[in-house]
This record gives sequence, structure tokens and C-alpha cells, in this order.
Amino acid sequence: MTTVLAGVVGWPVSHSLSPRMHHFWLHENAIAGGYVALPVRQHDLSSVLAALRETGFKGVNLTLPHKEAAYALADIADPSASASQAANLLLFRDLQFEAHNTDVEGLALSLRESLGEKATGIGLAVVLGAGGAARAAVLACDRLGAGQICIVNRTAARTDVLVRALSASVKAKLFVAQWNGWETHAPQTRLLINATSAGLNGTASPDVPLELLPGGAAVCDLVYSPLETPLLARARAQGLTSIDGLGMLMHQGALAFELLFGMRPNVSAALRAHLEQALRNGM
Ligand code: NDP
Repeated sequence: MTTVLAGVVGWPVSHSLSPRMHHFWLHENAIAGGYVALPVRQHDLSSVLAALRETGFKGVNLTLPHKEAAYALADIADPSASASQAANLLLFRDLQFEAHNTDVEGLALSLRESLGEKATGIGLAVVLGAGGAARAAVLACDRLGAGQICIVNRTAARTDVLVRALSASVKAKLFVAQWNGWETHAPQTRLLINATSAGLNGTASPDVPLELLPGGAAVCDLVYSPLETPLLARARAQGLTSIDGLGMLMHQGALAFELLFGMRPNVSAALRAHLEQALRNGM
């Protein structure tokens, strides 16, 4: 039996939950495989990827700061990677790098799981942020059929770049609002997604007026450390549906696991409990 080798490349990468998650599935499904965290600096990325391919790795996940660079190095790409111009998974096929982006479908699956039927009736979604996670969030909302997607970022210039990059790939009407000006749209907002890194590891969450959202709206935070960010705590206190970032992490991971190890693993309550325990223990 061949042992499949894979890993996650990032800088830093010691905080990544991916090795723990993939080992859980390897063990659960009795698959002979390995999945390791690989700390790689930006200027070493292409040489390390070439060496991993030579060593016999099947592929690697990519995390900060490598997602855009990995896409640029790829020979072919799936539609989500092409649309977002970012890859969170590279498969090594003979002499080719094949780029995938499972963040988009991973978030769409997490939103569907949490929102049920409401996931298909999103009129207006607001996405805070304009980095790689915001690109995935816009594409996921579009995949769920949102009619309009409003993008709000602290640095206005980055929102224009995002809209230019994505407008050809999405059916929804994309528009930009100022950080302090999107509240006029709040009463129509069905889904608010924090795709900024604000709220990560004890920093303040974005200061957005949740009280202006309609009853029945949902708030999703892609930050999962802490699991309940200050933003989600406010949403819960207000009776809004709150969706944490662990759902996206697990679903994008399951899609990547299937591409790497050949079977779709379960996103189960046991896996969630395993990862929550790791977060509580500070990993
Ligand atoms: P980037 O570095 O590409 O983008 C960061 C974004 O956060 C920018 O839009 C930046 O705004 C904004 N930002 C940072 N600090 C603040 C602040 N204090 N107030 C307002 N805006 C702020 O990161 P990514 O897009 O790759 O990731 C964003 C977050 O999403 C991270 O926390 C990451 O952990 C999480 N994530 C979660 C995933 C999951 O599976 N749950 C998957 C991928 C990412 P500006 O342009 O003004 O600097």
C-alpha cells in the first residue's frame, strides 16, 4: 500500500489546525497517509514546492501568505481558484501544479448547514474585508444565490481591486460601501460576514451596528480563534443566527482531503469537539 504524503505550507504555520484535522480523518478512515505542517518563507515557496513534488508528496494546502503566489505558480486551476486568483490547495500531477480553492465551497457548505432553507433566500449580503478570505466569501454568497453583495473594507482602494477581479465571475450585483457608511443598507442585510482578521486572538472585532440588522439576519465570522469572537457574542446576545469560522475550516478541509486522499470524510460533531478542544488548549 502506498502512503500518501501531504501537508500545509504557511509562514507562520504552527497555529494551523489542519494537521490535527487531517490526522483525525486519516485515523478515522484507516488511511495510510501523512500530513505535516511546513513552515516556508515567501521567497522559498517555488523551490520548496518543486522539492516536495520530487519527494513524492501528493499535494499541499496553502495558508497565509501563500495563496495568491501558489495560484500564480499553477499550470491549471479549478473554477474557484481561477475566480478568486488564490489557491488553498496545490496537487502535484507529473510536471504540473494543479490549483484548487476549496475555501469557496467550504464556506458555502458551512452557510448551508447553518442556515438551512434560508441559505438560498439571501437578498443582500455584506462582506467586511477585501483580502483572500473576503474573495472566498463573495464567491460563496454568489454560489448561494445572493442577489446583491456589498463589500466594505477599511482601506477603500482594496475594495476596488476586489470588485474588478471578481465582477466577471459573479452573477450577484457587487457594490462597495464606505466603512462608516454601509449602515444605510443594514436593515436589508440578511447575512453579514466578517472576513477581516479583526477579532483574531483577542483583538477587537469590527465595530459594526448589529442592532440595525433585521430580526432573522445571520452573522458569520471567519475568524475561529477565539471560536466565539466579540462580534459573534454580540450577535448571539441579540438573538441573531451566529455562525463561527470552524464550519468553513472543516468543510474546506474535507474537500481538500478528498482530493488528496481519495475519499470524502465526515464533518462530524466528534471532529468539531476535537478541534474545539485544541483551540481551548491554545493548540
Ligand atoms: P488578509 O491579510 O488577506 O486580509 C485581512 C483583511 O482584514 C483586510 O481586508 C484588512 O483590511 C482587514 N483588517 C485587518 N485588521 C483590521 C481591523 N483592525 N479593522 C478592520 N479591518 C481589518 O487575510 P485573509 O483575507 O487571508 O484572512 C482574513 C481572516 O479570515 C483571517 O482571520 C483568517 O484567519 C480568516 N480565515 C478563515 C478561514 C476559515 O476556514 N475559517 C479561511 C481563511 C481565512 P485592510 O485592507 O484595510 O488592511
